[in-house]
Amino acid sequence: MAGTTYGKGLPSFSYPLSKASLTSYDGGKVKQAGSYNFPVSKNIAGVYMDLQPGAIRELHWHADAAEWAYMIEGKTRITLTNPWGQVQIAEVEAGGIWFFPKGWGHSIEALDQKGAKFILVFNNGKFTEQSSFQLSDWISTAPIDKLTQYFGSEQLVKQMPKKEVYISRYNPNAGPLKTAYSLNPNAPAIPVSHIFNLLGQKPVTEGKGGSLKLATNKEFPASFDMSGGVMTLEPGGLRGFHWHPNADEWQFVLKGEMELTVFASGGKASVSKLNQGDIGYVPLGYGHALKNPSTVTPAEILIVFNAGDYQSMDLDQWISTNPVSTLSKSL
Ligand code: MN
Ligand code: MN
Repeated sequence: MAGTTYGKGLPSFSYPLSKASLTSYDGGKVKQAGSYNFPVSKNIAGVYMDLQPGAIRELHWHADAAEWAYMIEGKTRITLTNPWGQVQIAEVEAGGIWFFPKGWGHSIEALDQKGAKFILVFNNGKFTEQSSFQLSDWISTAPIDKLTQYFGSEQLVKQMPKKEVYISRYNPNAGPLKTAYSLNPNAPAIPVSHIFNLLGQKPVTEGKGGSLKLATNKEFPASFDMSGGVMTLEPGGLRGFHWHPNADEWQFVLKGEMELTVFASGGKASVSKLNQGDIGYVPLGYGHALKNPSTVTPAEILIVFNAGDYQSMDLDQWISTNPVSTLSKSL
């Protein structure tokens, strides 16, 4: 990646997820980036998942992170159950997002013949897919006598998985979704929706030549400790200099390209060039600006924060609120 760095000891603020090693299963493909391969991303990790038609990312939970997701392509059915036995079963299409609080049980199923491509973002840099707690992993490692006692049926336990599923097999005959049917059809619904149509939102302006569709906990109340949006930068467009007092910022280039300028204090600063599929990261409080260097192609950037109500401080606003005499002595 081309870029400029001022000062020594700066980490890289970008990572080419598109070139990261790929874990491939019959039912899907997975790439992940966290502090283990992208050291600056201490508080947020990201996963790209591509599920084949009919494949399911099996029932699981995460002990160490909440999950914020953006659908790039296709359609999924998500299931989410909370500690009060309430459930949400819903379909999410391209441009939609979901938020699963830490520890809540969930699954993701690719519908129809389209399959599904999506980005998962976790509010813990050390997160890996391998550290997820999968249902089949639990069942296949639990003592059979205890399972039989618990479920009350030897026959049922015999049919249960003998090893971890993680992502189920590709199903070429996956048809339209069957009516959701569960063993407990009377389970109450989770009162607040955990899915949200992000791309269906009215954009808010963000600097010159850019706009942002946003889902903070104001627009999307379920997402209480993460937030995000899709930023569009016109050719040459600049999201100007600013910082976030209460959140790290995780970025993924959905379309086009981006130059990420970061100010890290102590005379250290850098400019990184990001292409489609690359991740950018700005630690809490670091000054930064985003520019689309292309003269012809608009850029689309997914931006995720590890706070539900992230705050921004804009450099021009800050400067303009100070007395000129104060500024003249500072600058
Ligand atoms: Mn998950
Ligand atoms: Mn920012």
